[in-house]
Amino acid sequence: VVQSLRTHSGTGVPFSVEFNPPRDAAGEARLWRAVREFERMHPAFVSMTYGAGGSTRDRTVRITGALAQETTLLPVAHLTAVGHSIAELRSLVGSYADSGICNVLVLRGDPPGDPLGEWRKHPEGVEYAEELVRIVRDLGDFHVGVASFPQGHHRSPDLDHDTRHLCAKLRAGAEYSITQMFFDVEHYLRLRDRVIAMDPAEGAKPIVPELMPITSLRTVARAEELSGRPVPADIVARLTRAAGTGPEEDRAAVRAEGIQIATEMAQRLIDEDAPCLHFITLNFAKATSEVLTNLGYGVTAAPLSA
Ligand code: FAD
Repeated sequence: VVQSLRTHSGTGVPFSVEFNPPRDAAGEARLWRAVREFERMHPAFVSMTYGAGGSTRDRTVRITGALAQETTLLPVAHLTAVGHSIAELRSLVGSYADSGICNVLVLRGDPPGDPLGEWRKHPEGVEYAEELVRIVRDLGDFHVGVASFPQGHHRSPDLDHDTRHLCAKLRAGAEYSITQMFFDVEHYLRLRDRVIAMDPAEGAKPIVPELMPITSLRTVARAEELSGRPVPADIVARLTRAAGTGPEEDRAAVRAEGIQIATEMAQRLIDEDAPCLHFITLNFAKATSEVLTNLGYGVTAAPLSA
């Protein structure tokens, strides 16, 4: 991933996208349409999430393997520790390697059913992502990324604790982090400052900001569910104003405002030298490609070799 970011940065700030394992055949067809759309835009990498507790394990492995073998994209497989023994985690990483995947985003995961519920490690598993970073690195030639949290992880008592453990994951061998989505760029910039201040060597590793274009008032709730944080009041106010005062939400206006908000955030991140823009797509290409078009990214540029 880090190599691909370097290669792609020759033509400006690279972008990347996140997909989810589809639930059924229709979802899989939709995912592949999005994959082919993005392929024309040459993302630096694409990541595939891992369902809570391994619920999507076989599909995640199969589809991420297909991305490695049947596309020009660089896939990153998410891997979560929740519900797995170390032996199972090793075997999963082996399945990824067999499919030609060498980039893994290592995560602890949340308790299935209730992300805020009590965390219990698998009796033969790992307690923290840091341990899993070491396990994956020891298994072979894998490039590992980890999660970072602009406003702190919800289980961290304070930002200092949060930064300390992020630095520990990076020192354990992670080469970069991808943030939780956020809607206030200041939170991202302060995270970057904290890591650099605590550990300048680890602070030099890319912190990739994650963005999600909001396309409806319903997506506000989805964004809050995914990030575990409220969407800031000024953003909600802009979207609500766009929705209008009529009995029905003005969906086109809300969508346009959501795309505009994501474009403004992305532009600020570019101005602040972010190493990449990582978009949550929910397996749709349209909203993200509109933001990228607003920013002047082309779809016809020659592919870059990663
Ligand atoms: P950890 O790094 O283990 O941290 C968990 C908590 O423990 C933090 O509060 C941390 O500060 C603290 N901590 C860490 N080490 C120590 C220590 N040694 N002593 C004391 N405290 C410590 N979830 C999924 O289920 N599937 C996905 O595909 C997925 N993808 C994600 C992608 C991104 C970019 C992000 C940001 C999150 C993703 N998540 C995913 C959610 C993630 O699994 C949860 O946020 C989870 O609660 C935290 O995972 P972590 O890897 O950061 O955990």
